[in-house]
Amino acid sequence: MSEHRTIIEPFKIKTVEPLAMLARSERELHLETAGYNLFSLPSRVVTFDFLTDSGTTAMSAAQWAAMLVADESYAGSRSFTRLETVVRDLTGCPHIIPTHQGRAAERLLCQALVKPGMKIPSNNHFDTTRANIEFVGAEAVDLVIPEGRDPNSRHPFKGNIDLKRLEGFLQQNQGSIPFGMITITNNTGGGQPVSLQNIREVAKLYKQFGITFIIDCCRFAENAYFIKLREPGQRDRSVRAIAEEIFSLADGCYMSAKKDALVNIGGFIALKNEDWIERLRALLILTEGFPTYGGLAARDLEAMAVGLDEVLDERYLEYRLAVTRYMAEGFNKLGIPTVQPPGGHAVYIDAKSFLPHIPPRQFPGQALACELYLAEGIRGCEIGSVMFGTFHKEGGFIPAAMELVRLAFPRRVYTQSHFDYILEGMAELVANKNALKGLELVYDPPFLRHFTAKFKPLAS
Ligand SMILES: *Cc1c(COP(=O)(O)O)cnc(C)c1O
Repeated sequence: MSEHRTIIEPFKIKTVEPLAMLARSERELHLETAGYNLFSLPSRVVTFDFLTDSGTTAMSAAQWAAMLVADESYAGSRSFTRLETVVRDLTGCPHIIPTHQGRAAERLLCQALVKPGMKIPSNNHFDTTRANIEFVGAEAVDLVIPEGRDPNSRHPFKGNIDLKRLEGFLQQNQGSIPFGMITITNNTGGGQPVSLQNIREVAKLYKQFGITFIIDCCRFAENAYFIKLREPGQRDRSVRAIAEEIFSLADGCYMSAKKDALVNIGGFIALKNEDWIERLRALLILTEGFPTYGGLAARDLEAMAVGLDEVLDERYLEYRLAVTRYMAEGFNKLGIPTVQPPGGHAVYIDAKSFLPHIPPRQFPGQALACELYLAEGIRGCEIGSVMFGTFHKEGGFIPAAMELVRLAFPRRVYTQSHFDYILEGMAELVANKNALKGLELVYDPPFLRHFTAKFKPLAS
């Protein structure tokens, strides 16, 4: 494909929804009512909702059509058979358990297989993975390469596992590892990909130590396309062939289908070996549902089956990764620093370097997230001292390591002109950035501060 042509949305639009377009003065009122916390805004006052790429996909006509012919039988639904065939073909795993989303798969695996004191290695565990592992008294261990922790490193595969550390870890803990993992792409590390070579080496190590290898494969297609673009010798392979090789290296996988299966709800566990299946199905029946629907309607199974195929369309993936790249480059040209290189599903603005006049104690990430809303109706998510900062009773404060604002892009939802419009507005924001003020925390909830905290802008 020619380098000089615009990468266009590889779809045309059949169903539309009006965009909320408010005046800045209206947004000011809504933000004040929300206590300067974007999670408290109703979506009807948000123009560009970049809170998450999870479950926010626009579905295709083919997916909606498949939903109409779904078979809602309680047991043995043909929609399940259809999903089973698609997942088997892709992953090479004969045993498929549908779940209502990714964390349900995590809960089943953890409750069936993990005992207190056990340890599970990965590159970085996603929040819900870590929470499910810790809930059963085990430890989630992150072994990403050092470049993966450096926002300025331009390493092409910042999601890779540090193989030396993994080997040492396996030697020391061999008896207490129920399974070993890797997350593709590495969401917690910024949506950074893992190389095929790294997955091969990780698989070899797990095998050498007799440990079952499970992939958290939420964004397997985005990861496979990064491999095609960036890894020597992979350019001429199809993304499907790369994805199939990735799955062939593991003993199984689980997925939040709300990402790369292009649906609004869904997930599954897929395993090669049947050893764990009875235990997992027993837990599934207890709280999720019968093994051929697993907490979903059959129409959701149909949409997943179609989505898992559509996501491997290389024109789609080319466009998908172009969105994050385009936005990161656009921000950088305007002097807004972002974590490098851009990952698959989100851009992370470095608010600490962009707003050096706002100290971490005054939440530069949250201040920027609020201004993005006021200026353009954008809803992003602070990942900094609001989320991870620690306050001591005596008044001490330990800031987070980074002050980021994440803009996660829903799949197939916004167009090039939306993104151009956003970048135009950013130029103004940059010109006025020195006037931006920090925030004061006025309500600090006991858990998960970022969801319900309230703030007040500091006076000039
Ligand atoms: C979203 C996500 C999950 C959890 O999936 P849900 O569908 O939100 O429950 C697990 N792992 C990764 C890497 C994710 O991105």
